Amino acid sequence: MKRTIIEVILALALVGAGAFGWTNFKGNQKATGQLTELKAASEEATKAVAEKEAAIKAAEEEMATLREEMAPLEGQAQQLAAVKAAMANGATLADLEAAYKSQKNLSAERQVGLGALRMLTKGAEDPAAIESFRKALQMSELGDRKNTICAAQIALSAAGEKVAVMADCIPKSAKGDKGDKAEKGGHGDKAAAKDGHSKDDGHDHAKDDGHGKSDDKKAPEKHAVHWSYEGDMGPERWGKEFPTCAKGKSQSPLDIRGPFVKSRVVVTTDYKEGPLKMINNGHTIQVNVVPGSKIRIDGVAHELLQFHFHRPSEEKIDGKPMAMVVHFVHKSAEGKLAVLGVLLKEGNENPGIKTLWANMPMEEGPEVAPEGVNFNPANLLPREFDFYSYEGSLTTPPCTEGVRFFILKSTVNVAKEQVAAFPFKRNARPVQELNGREITTN
Ligand SMILES: [Zn+2]
Repeated sequence: MKRTIIEVILALALVGAGAFGWTNFKGNQKATGQLTELKAASEEATKAVAEKEAAIKAAEEEMATLREEMAPLEGQAQQLAAVKAAMANGATLADLEAAYKSQKNLSAERQVGLGALRMLTKGAEDPAAIESFRKALQMSELGDRKNTICAAQIALSAAGEKVAVMADCIPKSAKGDKGDKAEKGGHGDKAAAKDGHSKDDGHDHAKDDGHGKSDDKKAPEKHAVHWSYEGDMGPERWGKEFPTCAKGKSQSPLDIRGPFVKSRVVVTTDYKEGPLKMINNGHTIQVNVVPGSKIRIDGVAHELLQFHFHRPSEEKIDGKPMAMVVHFVHKSAEGKLAVLGVLLKEGNENPGIKTLWANMPMEEGPEVAPEGVNFNPANLLPREFDFYSYEGSLTTPPCTEGVRFFILKSTVNVAKEQVAAFPFKRNARPVQELNGREITTN
């Protein structure tokens, strides 16, 4: 009995202890829960504070960087103000205008220089300045002179004109994200201000206004953007500086092969004789054509601006290139580009090319205009006018798209010696992806 009582008491005690322990445990658990919550809340608060601090620090760093970037800009603004003040009386502009008066067709580089001087003398909105830049742009956008294109685009944009400034024209800042912003252009001041940013660019622009390329050779390291047909700056790398070259979906040249779609487009040429003007621009021999020669595409006139040569032909027919090709570059009043390609096949001497080669500058340099020499671009055309046609691009940087190509099926002859005398051994961009484009034929 006694034992039973003790056992009961013990059992009760045990249960009691258990109950006590349980209650205690629950209480502790609740407290721990609260503590955890408190801890989490405090951690969150600390984190938020840290984040805010980091943001403030980043903002401060940004401000410091901006201040650093602003300092040289202020200096440049002062220099610009000094130059403007020096030009304000207009004497230099009058001198230059007088000097250029006898030259009917100024080079793009000189147009840019003239425009810049007009802008400095008369202000950004001066219509004559704008006209100079527009002319420069029109002349240079078909070629390869990026510095001139950029100078003209940035100047027009700064003058409030509606001009898209190529992304390629905006110098890459250390942050590397500014290039895209200006792609759409139209925001001239910003583009111009950014341009002022880079000393190299300013330097190049200055050079472009009239000094020509010979100067560039003395300081090749300043020539920030250049391209070539081989090596580090070869066609595979063009896209780095000129995004369209890599990202474009209708690039030229093409390997022309069937199936073809029937074309009903009618193309006629009306080329006229004019004074011969040639330039060796370091990438090709180009003949600049005075106004008056044109082709008509379904009746729509496209003015012939220039023609130039590639060796071997950039276009291939069924995988095969020809010895050379002539590209006749035209532009309609609406600004639509059209290239007529004439393939040169090795054979007899070509009398037209004989005249051109006799006058061509063998070294890169400014345009030459041999006295008393006239040329009719029609001398380089075959008699038959059947063609292949497709939508393509400039075959040199910036590889601008929206260029209509007509490659004539009939070839013209060029002598082996004439091909060998061409100063560029290889200046042909490789063929590009068709990307579902139609090639038509008439
Ligand atoms: Zn070409």
